[in-house]
Amino acid sequence: MSDELLEGYARAILRALEDPDLQEALHTYVPGSEERVRRFLESRPDIVQLAREVKAIKEYSIAHMDELIDEAMRSLKSVNAVPHYAADAREARELALSLVGRGKVVVMSKSMTAEELGIREALEEAGNEVWETDLGQLLVQLEGGKPMHSIAPAIHMTVARVAQLLRDRLGLDVSPSDAPQQMVAKVREFLRSKFVSADVGISGGNALAAREGALLLVENEGNIRMVTNLPRLHIAFVGVEKLVPTMLDAFKVILVQAAFAGLYPPTYVSLIAGPSSTGDIGHRRVYGAHGPVEVHVVLVDHGRRAAAKDVVLREQLRCIRCGYCQFVCPVWGQVANNWGGSTYGGPMGVNWTAITEGVDRGAALAMLCLGCGRCDVACPVEIPISGILADLKRRFTSSL
Ligand code: SF4
Repeated sequence: MSDELLEGYARAILRALEDPDLQEALHTYVPGSEERVRRFLESRPDIVQLAREVKAIKEYSIAHMDELIDEAMRSLKSVNAVPHYAADAREARELALSLVGRGKVVVMSKSMTAEELGIREALEEAGNEVWETDLGQLLVQLEGGKPMHSIAPAIHMTVARVAQLLRDRLGLDVSPSDAPQQMVAKVREFLRSKFVSADVGISGGNALAAREGALLLVENEGNIRMVTNLPRLHIAFVGVEKLVPTMLDAFKVILVQAAFAGLYPPTYVSLIAGPSSTGDIGHRRVYGAHGPVEVHVVLVDHGRRAAAKDVVLREQLRCIRCGYCQFVCPVWGQVANNWGGSTYGGPMGVNWTAITEGVDRGAALAMLCLGCGRCDVACPVEIPISGILADLKRRFTSSL
C-alpha cells in the first residue's frame, strides 16, 4: 500500500468533514432514513423472517457459485439471451465496447456493479453519448463524483446543489427555490428524449435465477423499465454473487432488499428472461416485439470468486446492497462514501473495496471503523460486517 494512496484516503475524509453542503445533507436526511426503516421492520416480523430465508439462500448460492454460473450460462441460452463471462473489470469494459460500438446513445440504470467496472466512462471515451437515468445517479454523473450510498447515490447533495447541477450541466430552467416536483418534471422531460432515441440500455441486476435464466430488478423511479425495454439492445452486468438457484429465491432477495432500503413495497419489479418475442403471426416465434431484440447478460467475477474461497470475505458476498448498514454507521454518517474505495464506501463498502480492489486497500480503510457493531445488527442477512473489518485491520497492521 503506497503512502500516496493512504494520503489520498485521508484527504478525501478531511475534505468531507469540512464540506458544509455534505455535512448539512447528511445530518438532515440520514437520521430520518434510518428511523423509517427501523419502524417499518418493527411492524413487519414476516419480512425479518424472510430476511433469514434470504441469508440461507445466499449462503447456499455462494457455496455453489461455480455450479450456479454454469447453470445460468445454460439457462440464459435456453431463453435466447446471450450469456457472457467477465473475469475482471477490463474484460467487462471490452465486452461493453464490442457490444455497443461507437457513436451510440446509451441509457443506463443505476448499477453499482457497472460503476465498479467503469462501464460508463469506457463507453464515453469511445465516443458514445451515455446517460444515467436514475435521478440520483444522473446527478452523480453531472457532478463527476461517485455514488455516496448504494440506494441514494446523491444523498450528499443539498437541494441548492441539485438545482445548480441541473442548470449548469443540463441547461434546465430550474432554481434552488423550485419544489423538488418541478425539478423532477424537468429531468423527466429531458430524459424522455434520451430513452426514445437510445440504441442500447445498460442495467445491473438485483438477483439472477440460475435455473430459469431470469434477471430481477427492483426500483421506484420507473427508469429501469425504460432502460431495459425501449432500446433494441439490453446489456446487464451482474456480479456472480447475485446468482441464486431459482426465480422464487430471486423474488425473496428483492423483497428483502426493498424493505431494508426503506422502499417497501417497491413500485416496480422487472423480470427479464430473454428478448421480447411474439408468436402471433403464423404461429412462429419472432424475437424483437416491443422490447429488446437482443439481451446480453454479463456475469462478472472481478474478485468475487476469490472472495468466495476466503473464509472471512466470503460472508460479505451475501450482501444484497440495501445500504441500511450505511445509515446506522457513525463513521459513514459523518463522511458518507468518502470513507471508501473508488466505488464502494461505508461498512459494507470497505469490505467490497477489499473484494474488488484488493485486500490491502480495504484493510487500510478498515482502520477507521470504530468497532461499535451497529452495522452487524442492521444487516438483513446477518453479515458480521464489523468482524470482517476487524480481520482487515489485523491484515493491515501485520503488513506494517
Ligand atoms: S462497526 Fe464500524 S462499520 Fe460498523 S457501524 Fe460501527 S463504525 Fe460503522
